[in-house]
Amino acid sequence: MIKQSLLAALLLIAPTAAHGQDQTPAADPARLKADVEKLVSFGTRHTLSSATDPKRGIGAARNWGAAEFARISKACGGCLTVERIADRFDGPRAPDGVIVENVLAIQKGSGDPAHVIIIAGHIDSRVSDPMNFTADAPGANDDASGTALVIEAARLLSKHKHRATIVYALLSGEEQGLWGGRLLARHAKEKNWPVAAMLNNDIVGGIKGTDGTIVDNRVRVFSEGIRASEDLAAQLARRGIGGEDDGPSRALAKAAIRAGKQSPTIGLDVLAVRRPDRFRRGGDHLPSLELGYPAIRFSVGIEDYDHQHQDLRTENGRKYGDTVDEMDFAYLARVTALNVVLASELAAAPPAPASVSIDGAVSSDTKVSWTPVKDAVAYRLYWRRADRNDWTDSQLVPADAAAAGRTLPGVIIDDHFFGVSALSADGSESIVTFGGLPPAQ
Ligand SMILES: [Zn+2]
Repeated sequence: MIKQSLLAALLLIAPTAAHGQDQTPAADPARLKADVEKLVSFGTRHTLSSATDPKRGIGAARNWGAAEFARISKACGGCLTVERIADRFDGPRAPDGVIVENVLAIQKGSGDPAHVIIIAGHIDSRVSDPMNFTADAPGANDDASGTALVIEAARLLSKHKHRATIVYALLSGEEQGLWGGRLLARHAKEKNWPVAAMLNNDIVGGIKGTDGTIVDNRVRVFSEGIRASEDLAAQLARRGIGGEDDGPSRALAKAAIRAGKQSPTIGLDVLAVRRPDRFRRGGDHLPSLELGYPAIRFSVGIEDYDHQHQDLRTENGRKYGDTVDEMDFAYLARVTALNVVLASELAAAPPAPASVSIDGAVSSDTKVSWTPVKDAVAYRLYWRRADRNDWTDSQLVPADAAAAGRTLPGVIIDDHFFGVSALSADGSESIVTFGGLPPAQ
């Protein structure tokens, strides 16, 4: 009976309605500012700086991050497990090698602990010369902002239980070679975490561009099209059906757009940039993409190149350096809120269907069927004309009617794209699995 009424309510939910609506969590700009100032107070957080000095360097910063996670855990009755993972890396930016250590806080899921959502930022910083590990490198926006966001997200999300496991990750070694991102992705693989989403936050606390242009109502979300993890045969299969815009990373970016629209009080328009990262630059989500995990990068709507990766100095009356006074903490709080809304929806939703098949060649109709998802109460079947980027039509299919698939009369397979998401009883929705491809390896 209860299930029936839930389903009846669910059937009334429009595709753009609202898991997170009016529940926008209150990320606190003052607390975010205090955390960024604390991170800056370690002088430099360069990956090659001291790992053992109690006051200055990346070791002190990591210890502080771990202590913050422990404090948050205490407030939620021990709901977080704080772990450190480390490995040795070397490369052109660490020729003698360096131990890269990530600090993780793990909030185990109460319903499906094997299903994992990751929220990450990098704790290391740099100045103009990537090898200079002694000069002050405040790294306020890049990426104390992302680090503070991850800690604030842990504070907010740990107030509730979640169906899936949420991993809060402070990564090191980003500026030397995306090593913390690689270490995290490898750890996820070793632990067999089925990562449903990796949300990387890198430079998320500013509204001013280099030329003074203000952009305070937009956040950029970067996602890959062609999948780094697919072999040539899988890439050719994707090319053959026109699936370049619908891999899991792109589907996650579309979920971020939806989360933004569902929470208008956050006031952030998601600019979903259709490339893995900024032009010829990278971030810690890329190693996750290489291992096949749906991953995206959040970054400010406009960047200020005078205030990132720069020695602190004044030249011809122009100030350089990544300092706190160039940031906007109300904006950082809004990007934090968007992460929290998206992560809590994905952590409440079942996993996405493993695969969706479509059938209907030389027919007026298309039949869509999909692999069942444990605990899904319903599915949403999406389609759109093949000249569109975003889903335009959808139909709700109750789980008990899903086994037979669904035929869409008059929707011609050649001219449309199809996908299916899985829903929980409260309407929380997974990312959309694109139709017509074999299950991912
Ligand atoms: Zn960065």
